[in-house]
Amino acid sequence: MHETIHIIGGGMAGSEAAWQAAQAGVPVVLHEMRPEVGTFAHRTGSFAEMVCSNSFRSDDDERNAVGLLHWEMGAANGLIMETARAHRLPAGGALAVDRDPFAEAVTARLKAHPLISVEYGEITELPREGHWIVATGPLTSGALAQSIRAETGAESLAFFDAIAPIVYAESIDMSVAWRQSRYDKGETEEERTAYINCPMTKPQYEAFIDALLAADKTEFHEGETAGYFDGCLPIEVMAERGRETLRHGPMKPVGLTNAHRPEEKAYAVVQLRRDNQLGTLYNIVGFQTKMKYGAQTAVFKMIPGLENASFARLGGIHRNTFINSPRLLDNQMRLRSRPNVRFAGQVTGVEGYVESAAMGLLAGRMAAAEIRGETLLPPPPETAMGALITHITGGAEAKTFQPMNVNFGLFPPIDAKGGRRGRKDRYKAYTDRAKDAFTQWLAAQ
Ligand SMILES: Cc1cc2nc3c(=O)[nH]c(=O)nc-3n(C[C@H](O)[C@H](O)[C@H](O)COP(=O)(O)OP(=O)(O)OC[C@H]3O[C@@H](n4cnc5c(N)ncnc54)[C@H](O)[C@@H]3O)c2cc1C
Repeated sequence: MHETIHIIGGGMAGSEAAWQAAQAGVPVVLHEMRPEVGTFAHRTGSFAEMVCSNSFRSDDDERNAVGLLHWEMGAANGLIMETARAHRLPAGGALAVDRDPFAEAVTARLKAHPLISVEYGEITELPREGHWIVATGPLTSGALAQSIRAETGAESLAFFDAIAPIVYAESIDMSVAWRQSRYDKGETEEERTAYINCPMTKPQYEAFIDALLAADKTEFHEGETAGYFDGCLPIEVMAERGRETLRHGPMKPVGLTNAHRPEEKAYAVVQLRRDNQLGTLYNIVGFQTKMKYGAQTAVFKMIPGLENASFARLGGIHRNTFINSPRLLDNQMRLRSRPNVRFAGQVTGVEGYVESAAMGLLAGRMAAAEIRGETLLPPPPETAMGALITHITGGAEAKTFQPMNVNFGLFPPIDAKGGRRGRKDRYKAYTDRAKDAFTQWLAAQ
C-alpha cells in the first residue's frame, strides 16, 4: 500500500486519527506546528496536550453520555482512552488524568509506530491533493484558517462560539409555556409553532434582570481577545446596557399570544427554538452568556416554564475556530467541495477532549477504509459516536450551528415501554442499546 494519510494537528483528534489509521495498516504523516509555532493555550510540544482541565469528565458508561463515549472508544482500541486510563488520577466518578505523563505517553506511542512519521511545522494552506485530515482544533493557526475560509466562505467558519443554553424538551413545563412562532409566521403548522414561549410578568422580568446583573461571570482566558460581535452579545452585557434592552431584544413580547391565558399580555417572553431534527433539544434564543455554570442554572430556572428544566448544555462564549459541518461535510466527514480533505475534532463543531478524540477515531478509520477501497459507514445514531457524527453532519440546524457536547438529547428517543421510566433507568436503556449497536458496528468491519 503506497497511499498515505496526512493529518494536520497532533491534538486529541489528530493523535487518535493517526493511531487508528496506522493500526488499520495505512501509513500516516502527522503534521504538528508546535513547538515551532505555539498557541495561547498550549504549553508544550507534546501531542494530545490537555489545554485546561485535566478531566475527561464522567466515566459512568451506564448512565452518562460522555462515559458511554469512553466505553465506545475503549471498545474501538482508542489510544487516547487507553492512555488516559493508564495515567488516571483519583477523581470520584470522573476520569481525571495526570496530564504531562499522559501527553508524553501518547507522543511516544505515536512516534514508535512503524507506520507513523511526524513532521513538525505549520501547514498554511488547505491541500489540494492526497488524503488529508484537518484536526487543527479551536486554535487553528491564522494562515490555515484563512485558507479554510477561502474554501468554505466567511459565513461557514467561526472564530468564536456563542453558545446559548440547551434544554431537554421534555423538561419544559408546557402548562406554562406554549408553541408559537412570532406573528404565527410560516407556511406550515410546524413552522407556525416552531418556538416554545415562556411568558414573564413585570415583577418576574425585574427579578430576572437583577439576578443576571448580580450573577458570577467568567472572564476570557488570557490571550483570548474579547471578540463580541453584533447579534452575539452575552445577555448579561445586554442587561448592563439598560434594564429594558432585553425586552426590546431577544425577550420582546410582541407577536405572541399566551395560549393558556390569551387575555394576559406578557411583559417579556423568552423563546426556545428547536436545536435538532429529533425535536428533543431546544436552545434559549439569544441567551449566549459568560455566566458561571452554577449561576446559569439558578438564573435560567427563574424563567416561568423552566423551573424544572434539565440542561443538555449550558451557555458560553469562547475563542473557538469551527466550521459549519452540517453545511460543509458529508457523512464521511469529507469536505463536500474538496473530498480529499476530511475534518476531525473540535474544528468540526463538537466540543471537549473526549468528543474531539472520538471524531478523530472515526475520521482515521474512515480515511483508512477509503484507501483500502472500502466505505466505512458511520456508527448508528443510537451510539454516542453515531449520535455525535449524525448531529454535526446533518442532524443539527445549519443556520444556527454551534459546538455541541455529547448528550442523550442527541440520541433517537427510547420507546418507554411499560410506562414512564425514571431518568436513571432510561439512561441505562440508552447505554445498553448503544453498546449493542456499537459492538455490531465494530464486528462488521
Ligand atoms: C482555552 C481553552 C480551554 C479549553 N478547556 C477545555 C477543557 O477544560 N476541557 C475540554 O474537554 N476541552 C477544553 N477545550 C477544548 C479543547 O481544546 C478541545 O476539547 C480539544 O483539545 C480539541 O481537540 P482537537 O484535537 O480538536 O484540537 P487540539 O487538541 O487543540 O489540537 C489541535 C492541534 O493542531 C495544531 N495546529 C493548529 N493549527 C495548525 C497548523 N496550521 N499546522 C499544524 N498544526 C496545527 C495545534 O498546535 C494542536 O496541537 C478548551 C479549549 C481552549 C481553547
